[in-house]
Amino acid sequence: MIVEQIWTANAYRNFNYLIVCPETGEALAIDPLDHRKCLASAKRRGWDITQVLNTHEHGDHTGGNRAMIAETGAKLLAHANAKDKIPGIDKGLSAGDVVSVGKTVELEALDTPGHTMSHVCLLSHGAPAALFSGDTLFNAGAGNCHGGGHPRALYGTFAGQLAGLGDQTLVYPGHDYIATNLGFTLDREPDNTEAKALLDWAADQDPGQAMITTIGLEKDINAFFRLHSPTVIEILRRDFPDLPEKPDPETVFLKLRELRNKW
Ligand SMILES: [Zn+2]
Ligand SMILES: [Zn+2]
Repeated sequence: MIVEQIWTANAYRNFNYLIVCPETGEALAIDPLDHRKCLASAKRRGWDITQVLNTHEHGDHTGGNRAMIAETGAKLLAHANAKDKIPGIDKGLSAGDVVSVGKTVELEALDTPGHTMSHVCLLSHGAPAALFSGDTLFNAGAGNCHGGGHPRALYGTFAGQLAGLGDQTLVYPGHDYIATNLGFTLDREPDNTEAKALLDWAADQDPGQAMITTIGLEKDINAFFRLHSPTVIEILRRDFPDLPEKPDPETVFLKLRELRNKW
């Protein structure tokens, strides 16, 4: 499987992706907002974009569909429940569906509600495994829930699905927010030395050559995976004096999500 991460350099800091079968050159474009950059990249490498997948219905993920499909005739895939929100879906996806690209690539659709309620992530089981996480999981952060999502559902996705992925799984998110997100982690957990070291580095990273994190690293540096950290809990209890000494992880997650909205 070839993965090309395409940095759009737009105000929303979107990443688009091409996932390519090295044998046939067939490609799946994920959220190709910058259809020109995606098409140019495919043309340069001799790839043929035959499918477009939207992780969810927001315009910064679907905005390139029409032009991309007009140019390539690609089929459009998205969450089965996004049918009324995204025009022209050819194939609605449910949890466990397999998306094939060419002869060699198979991606499992994960039903990952929270950022919106019709959001899919794609999981490649290859070695190493790879997760295309849309706006559900960002490097060092989590998607917000004010565009049609629910924080409790997002917690369910994190605890029930993402936390169970192998530590080596590569993370390919829908936006570059790593520096801001690491700032939030450090605001909540100032003694997180790994997050501190990474922020020093990420502050001047070129998103065109972005660092690809893993689930294992996210568990160390992403506040939304740090639900049992004594520091996170201690500092949270200063902001929310009603919190018990040992709050359950869902409560910690919901409080962090609430704080991140204003941070
Ligand atoms: Zn979104
Ligand atoms: Zn987005």
